[in-house]
Amino acid sequence: MTAPLIGITIHANDAQHRAALDRLCAQAIQGVANAGGLPVLIPPGLDEPALHGLFERLDGLLFTGGGDIAPAYYGGSASSLVAGVDVDRDSAELALMRWALDSAKPFFGICRGLQILNVACGGSLYQDIGECKHAERHTFYPDFPFDMLAHPIEIVPDSQLAHIAGKATLQVNSLHHQACQVVAPGLRVVARARDGMVEAIEVTAHPFGLAVQWHPEALPDAPEMRALFRALVVATRERSCVQT
Ligand code: MN
Repeated sequence: MTAPLIGITIHANDAQHRAALDRLCAQAIQGVANAGGLPVLIPPGLDEPALHGLFERLDGLLFTGGGDIAPAYYGGSASSLVAGVDVDRDSAELALMRWALDSAKPFFGICRGLQILNVACGGSLYQDIGECKHAERHTFYPDFPFDMLAHPIEIVPDSQLAHIAGKATLQVNSLHHQACQVVAPGLRVVARARDGMVEAIEVTAHPFGLAVQWHPEALPDAPEMRALFRALVVATRERSCVQT
């Protein structure tokens, strides 16, 4: 069986916290490869026809972590706490996400990838979790090991995520200073932290549209985290069986 081609979004060469993003991206590539997928990086800077041409060749997508999405995309003006904005990356990833949603192509989102999903569907973000007074700390970077288990999450029992993880709660790492505020219509929150912050969402009318706020690629020894990458690869295979 041919390995499914999984497109992975990446940050630009001049991204803030580049070294950390490089490391996480390398782990995401490894996560896809270990799950039986053939990882391919989606280069920054493609024009829209080329991006769409590449999209059509992919069997599935992985939206990775990175800098903040420009608040203009969800109707805000940027506060001083917004950092690492790359509007070219934003517009490319929002286009890829809309195409993935419209074509029912399987995708998995990590951290910023979850936020791209929510914004692409019309939702909004806390520009900084500190805007939310009852929030716990979620910013365990850059001075903490990325595999540090920072807080528990509670998973909605009848969700795809619960089925994949096989557990009702998980301890996860936490490398984000933003989070979903208004969750877009058509998305289902399937995991939250104790403070109520959204930690995972699924697309209701999609065969496999799942996104998590934590970084499973940085926890490669945990079976539940490996299972997330595996679920993406399996979803691409199920889709190609249906189509042929
Ligand atoms: Mn968190």
